[in-house]
Amino acid sequence: MIVLETVRVPASRWLGGILIDNEKLASSLRAFAADRDWDQFHTPKNLASAITVETSELLEIFQWSRGQKKWSDLDAPDVRARTEEELADILLYLIRFADKAGIDLQRAAESKLALNAEKYPVERFKGSDKKYNEKVE
Ligand SMILES: [Mg+2]
Repeated sequence: MIVLETVRVPASRWLGGILIDNEKLASSLRAFAADRDWDQFHTPKNLASAITVETSELLEIFQWSRGQKKWSDLDAPDVRARTEEELADILLYLIRFADKAGIDLQRAAESKLALNAEKYPVERFKGSDKKYNEKVE
C-alpha cells in the first residue's frame, strides 16, 4: 500500500497550491441552481456532459498550436483570462456533480492518486510517456 503525504484542511481543499473551499462552492452552486430552478436539469448525464464541454473549451484555447504552446504563453492576459474561466467552469461542474452524487472529491482524488502511483511505479515509468499497460523498454 502506498501512503501519500496530504495536507489536511477541514472543510477545505487544496488544488494547485490554492485553497479551494469545496463546501462553500457547493453551497453557492446549490443556491445558484435553486434561485433559477435549474436543479431539475442537473442530472448525472447533463453534468457529465457539461464537464466534457468545459474541458473542450479549455482545449480550444490551445487548438491548432500543434504543441507549440508553452506555459509562458499563459502570460498573455487574454489567454490567461480565458484559461482561468474554463478551469473555473470545470471545477464548478466537478464540485456540483460530486455534491449531487454525495462524493467526497478529496477522498476520491487521493484514492485515485494512490492507484496511479501503483500503476506507474517510478522505477519503471520515470521519463516514459507509455501507458501502464504498454511495454516499456
Ligand atoms: Mg466555459
